Amino acid sequence: MRLKTFAVAAVALVAAAGSAFAQSFPSRPITMVVPFAAGGPTDTVARLVAQSMSETLGQQVVVENVGGAGGTLGAARVAKADADGYTLLLHHIGQATSATLYRKLPYNPATDFAGIGLVTDVPMTIVAKKEFPAKDLKELVAYVKANADKVTLANAGVGAASHLCGMLFMKEIGTQLTTVPYKGTGPAMNDLVGGQVDVMCDQTTNTTGQIKGGAIKAYAVTTPTKVASLPDLPTTKDAGLPGVQVAVWHGLYAPKGTPADVVQKLNGALLAALKNNTVKARFAELGTEPVSADRATPQVLDAFVKAEIERWRPIIQDAGVFAD
Ligand code: ASP
Repeated sequence: MRLKTFAVAAVALVAAAGSAFAQSFPSRPITMVVPFAAGGPTDTVARLVAQSMSETLGQQVVVENVGGAGGTLGAARVAKADADGYTLLLHHIGQATSATLYRKLPYNPATDFAGIGLVTDVPMTIVAKKEFPAKDLKELVAYVKANADKVTLANAGVGAASHLCGMLFMKEIGTQLTTVPYKGTGPAMNDLVGGQVDVMCDQTTNTTGQIKGGAIKAYAVTTPTKVASLPDLPTTKDAGLPGVQVAVWHGLYAPKGTPADVVQKLNGALLAALKNNTVKARFAELGTEPVSADRATPQVLDAFVKAEIERWRPIIQDAGVFAD
């Protein structure tokens, strides 16, 4: 009996300490890890969200780029960080696909994180360097198949969305290309514009400006419907590659074990960011929009990661692409 009283008191004490911690949270800057290089699409989304969250929380949310190994280096860094809300991860669909793409990961994407909320679903585009000799997707496929030994396909490493989309593309056309991995598609885009690589599949948040400015060629968007900011671009389904379908969802995470009231505070700041007019306007220019408030919750994100791991597992296994 006395033991039980002690246990109840101990639980109450921990809860009180937790809420006192949450009340003063955040009392110093927060780091938001982006698991890709600066200047790319995940980085662009993160910086817009971080700026608004800084204003809401009254502390700087500083973006740190930890690129490499398709996003798994940055994710590992956050999985192992202190669970105090001061180190966050803004990652995309790779959080789920890497669970199958990697035979061994130094963390478990399904259980080592506390989801804060979904952020946005971003369409991808199939793009090529400006000089690429194909005017539409059919010509691109024909050229790539005829020149498979020469054409290079950029990506951000195994586990990246560009890798996933490129993998679906190669499977759909039954042709293997030489892939060129980068630490993110920011640097890959520089090489595409410079003509050092030929083809890439990447989020509209990285390609829209370059497509509109005429710096690269675009062939299709990988979602079931067209994107308002690129109205001339057909869908992969309409242009002849219906199997290349990817929407790149992005989520915000803390390490597992972060106090629930801290997660709630961070979720409040995320929700404010998704309603912020500057964020919404910039997202729209880049071919995307914030998710609805009912999807930007810890519960939805935690369940979604698990569901997405299961959804992509057979597709990846079927494609037979793995990394060690
Ligand atoms: N878009 C990249 C990818 O392929 C990552 C990035 O640089 O944001 O996943």
